Amino acid sequence: MSGASRTRILLARRPVGAPVAADFRIETAALPQPGPGEVLVRVLYLSLDPYMRGRMSEAKSYAPPVALGDVMVGETVAEIVQSNVPGFPPGDIVRCHAGWQSHAALPADRLQRVDATVAPVSTALGVLGMPGFSAWVGLDAIGRPQQGETLVVAAATGPVGATVGQVARLRGARCVGIAGGARKCAALIEEFGFAAAIDHRAPDFAPALARACPDGIDVYFENVGGAVFDAVLPLLNRFARVPVCGVVATYNDREADRAGPDRLPALMGAVLRRSLTVQGFINNSFIERYEAFHAEMSAWVRNGDVRTREDIIDGLANAPGAFIGMLEGRNFGKLLIRP
Ligand code: NAP
Repeated sequence: MSGASRTRILLARRPVGAPVAADFRIETAALPQPGPGEVLVRVLYLSLDPYMRGRMSEAKSYAPPVALGDVMVGETVAEIVQSNVPGFPPGDIVRCHAGWQSHAALPADRLQRVDATVAPVSTALGVLGMPGFSAWVGLDAIGRPQQGETLVVAAATGPVGATVGQVARLRGARCVGIAGGARKCAALIEEFGFAAAIDHRAPDFAPALARACPDGIDVYFENVGGAVFDAVLPLLNRFARVPVCGVVATYNDREADRAGPDRLPALMGAVLRRSLTVQGFINNSFIERYEAFHAEMSAWVRNGDVRTREDIIDGLANAPGAFIGMLEGRNFGKLLIRP
């Protein structure tokens, strides 16, 4: 493979507020040679996820930031093209963290085989991967929806939200989805089987949500925060559970954006008076449940009980624009780049 090259996207500078194209740099570099115990992979799909906004920032978090000039982090599904590892021959499809690049040399212990017989291999980055697991385990460990209860989730056409709604429905809950715009709301009912869909961009969002939840809310699966949480809080029933998975509405906030009325007393008062359970989680804290997730979700995906929507964009050079768009709600389904 001498003379061959790879394309990579690097973090050029740390964004202030919403990321812009100039925060990224694209470069072409020589193809790496796999060392002993390593394979060379060609990326088939790169997953773009909201958590990457946090990795662009130096603020303290649960994972270290990407260093300036380094390849952006990201999970990928890739094909082995050269191998120094018995048992991982060229042609095998694996899941790995190759990052925002077309090729990578990786040690064998960083590879997970992908079972292509269950569903298209891209789903290993969505419903059958980290986002699907986050949905499943957030419900299993914290939300615990019961027969006849009302569950609400926003970003509901995304890989986490769509999975939350479908799993909770399979557990017997009535599911209300929140999404941006009429097209996404139609998909919530027609594709994903939500009982009701509410557009958070509509001027009457809060009263519409209240009308869609006549018995209040028993489980609010928090994906977005912001104005959606403000509308949800008054509707939470006694003993409601709130798995806090993400707050994507705030990921681009600057310090100045956080100024405003102090809503903490209202929140803590509601937590106290209505005996709410509010628990944040990062999916890998529950990694011991991954196999149970994968077995149950694979069966649901195979028999059509859980459906998935993908938004696939061709060309690694389009990754920054697609990522910026996802934080504004321009993706429609699990966002993937096909380098
Ligand atoms: P996604 O739904 O594919 O993309 C994010 C979506 O957020 C956008 O498409 C947009 O959808 C919605 N959004 C953005 N700004 C919003 C706002 N101001 N108000 C309401 N909605 C807004 O993302 P995902 O991968 O499924 O992730 C969903 C959430 O789960 C994120 O917060 C993410 O950080 C979190 N997450 C957490 C874990 C964990 O381990 N804790 C793991 C995976 C993901 P609309 O157009 O519908 O508004």
